[in-house]
Amino acid sequence: MHRLVPLGLLAAGCGGIREDPIGFDALLVSIDGASWALLDEEWAHLETLPGIAPAPIPIHLLGYADTPAAHARMLTGYGPEVTGVLDRWHDPPIPAGLTLHERLRARWGESLHLSFVSNKPKNLAIDPGLSFQHAGDASDWTYAGYDPTAGVGARMRDALDDGWDRPLFALFHFAEVDEAGHRSGERSWDQRQALRAIDAELGLVLERLREREREARIYVTADHGFTPGTNYHEEKAHHVWLVCDDPALDASEGEIDEIAWTFLDLYDAEDEALPPPEGLGSLRGR
Ligand SMILES: [Zn+2]
Repeated sequence: MHRLVPLGLLAAGCGGIREDPIGFDALLVSIDGASWALLDEEWAHLETLPGIAPAPIPIHLLGYADTPAAHARMLTGYGPEVTGVLDRWHDPPIPAGLTLHERLRARWGESLHLSFVSNKPKNLAIDPGLSFQHAGDASDWTYAGYDPTAGVGARMRDALDDGWDRPLFALFHFAEVDEAGHRSGERSWDQRQALRAIDAELGLVLERLREREREARIYVTADHGFTPGTNYHEEKAHHVWLVCDDPALDASEGEIDEIAWTFLDLYDAEDEALPPPEGLGSLRGR
């Protein structure tokens, strides 16, 4: 299996916090409410995403199709039987130690800069007593608030500048495609414009990374889609996607839970005490 960690690091052995530097940044970008159908129809009009990968791969979401439930899976690799996050009405704090941010901090300590940027302060919440509290606590740089798309893009660039002294792992969440879907319907002109605007913002972020000559891995995905022909997401809203430039990615499809296992693999941060559920695992090198 290919890994991006330097060879010296592999020789360091397992267990405990690593002190060796990591040679790359990794961004996990979540475009809330961007269905497979929307991305597929818009692909020819986008500039940044088709530059990251020649094609998206299909990703399936199990369980309830909403922001808290899907992000709990994406950021822990587990369903509600482990996280407690069933849907937006049942979204207690995820038990401590399960989120990617906490697990990367436990593995790499302060040698990694962690950011958590949420564009939905209620549904992807990091305040005390809310679902993603522990992920927020483990991060160096957090933001949870509703900004139009351009606001999140500016925050992404700020986070990149702030994390400059250390390799960065960041979650960046964009709400605008979901907001436009509720406002104007799925695959409406409004929703298409929102996706194009986010694509353009991502282009500015990648330009910033290139200017600084950073080696980065970009994973762009969506938490859920919309029920066809409606402005809500319940049934048939479970078909999303992943666009990724990780050369070790070796999967033609996956589950949203596997995004968490893929990042744990990327960072050599698996833990036998917290194994993936049966049938799930990393999308790299399999
Ligand atoms: Zn929504």
